[in-house]
Order: sequence, then C-alpha cells, then structure tokens
Amino acid sequence: MRVSADKETCAVSSLCVYRVPEVFDQDDDGAVEILDTEPPSSLHEAVRSAARSCPTQSIRVE
Ligand code: SF4
Repeated sequence: MRVSADKETCAVSSLCVYRVPEVFDQDDDGAVEILDTEPPSSLHEAVRSAARSCPTQSIRVE
C-alpha cells in the first residue's frame, strides 16, 4: 500500500489524524501530512476507511 494526500484540497478537518495517527499528521497550517507512506498491513483497513471518510477526498491509496 502506498498513501499520499493533497494538501491543496485538504479541508483541515483532522478526521484522518484522529483515525490513524500512525499515518496522518498535520503541518503548522493544519494541512494533512503523511508520516508513513507505506504503512504495515495491520493499518490498511483503517487507512482505506480514513480515505473514504475524507470530506474532500484528498487521500489517495494505491
Ligand atoms: S480527512 Fe481529509 S480534509 Fe480532513 S485533514 Fe485528513 S486529508 Fe484533510
């Protein structure tokens, strides 16, 4: 799994950070930041769920 996110469209909702803090964080402006672009399989479902729940669909999972 490879995770990326678009800071330009991120609405600074923090949802993904609350859901999977091992993978998502926020920069000084509050925009999403990826801590682990290749998370372990134990986090894959949580990451997919966070991507589905992002209000601006700013999270990409490949
Ligand atoms: S859930 Fe989406 S809009 Fe909210 S902080 Fe994460 S990437 Fe940004």
